[in-house]
Amino acid sequence: MARVMPRILIVACAILSAAGCAAPPTQPSTGGSSGCGAERPFAQGGERATLWIRSSVEFRASAEGIYRAALLALRQGLADPDWTAEPSQHGDLAALPPAVVMDIDDTVLDNSSAQARMLLAGTCPAEFPALWDAWVAERAAPAVPGAADFIRAARQLEDHRGRPVRVFFVTNRECGARAHQSSACPQQLDTLANLRALRLDAPTLEADLMLKQERPGWHSEKLSRRQEIARGHRVVLNIGDDLGDFLPDARRESPVVRERARCRHRAWWGTRWFVIPNPMYGSWQSVLGPDLEAALALPPLPADCGDAA
Ligand SMILES: [Mg+2]
Repeated sequence: MARVMPRILIVACAILSAAGCAAPPTQPSTGGSSGCGAERPFAQGGERATLWIRSSVEFRASAEGIYRAALLALRQGLADPDWTAEPSQHGDLAALPPAVVMDIDDTVLDNSSAQARMLLAGTCPAEFPALWDAWVAERAAPAVPGAADFIRAARQLEDHRGRPVRVFFVTNRECGARAHQSSACPQQLDTLANLRALRLDAPTLEADLMLKQERPGWHSEKLSRRQEIARGHRVVLNIGDDLGDFLPDARRESPVVRERARCRHRAWWGTRWFVIPNPMYGSWQSVLGPDLEAALALPPLPADCGDAA
């Protein structure tokens, strides 16, 4: 166990990178005790967090409840032509058909099996990209509890003019070549197949799935893709597991600045923006930096926004 734990911490870092977050920070070697050469684990909580996602009824109840509340909010937003969940969207929106924006990883697709696999194997950071790509290629991720039902139900709804809801997936799964495959974007094919296996197909699914680097300007910061959706659709709802799914610069700011950003939009959380809990990785962790003991010594963020907004 003494050797396994450091590797667990490394994996949390590596998963973080896969989700489009900041590159995993490293610290100087203290003797290579992690089993990954000069790399030293920096994150904490990977084992417990993954078990919570995989085996707790508390997570399942949370996720299903969030998706149920999101569907109620979607009905409300569809009836109001001025309603939008995209801060950059202003003006008369009545001419635009409705849309929902969703993240993929650990919002729609549950990657905890990949996380558990890498925890058990003691995956090192350098090994992560290939293992993550292999997981995506398996096309076997189950749905996050509540997600599939929500997507199917959302697509059945219409706005006040009878236009159906289109569900867009903005993901930092990456469009890039893979050895021994002719496709220029194999993770797109894999993700489409995974979604279809979960009975989430739609006539526009390929266009609805927007990967990192699929087009120029589509980098890990998702703002440009959200804005492109907003040019042609009224964004009624946004669902993700990371602040970066909702607001720009989530990975650049301190926890306090991130909290101010949350507070500026406090009326939107739980009404237009819905967060699926993800304690396994995310920008919440990357902004803490490598010294988690120092982070633990800090007081928690305030319970309410006060004057911060
Ligand atoms: Mg995600």
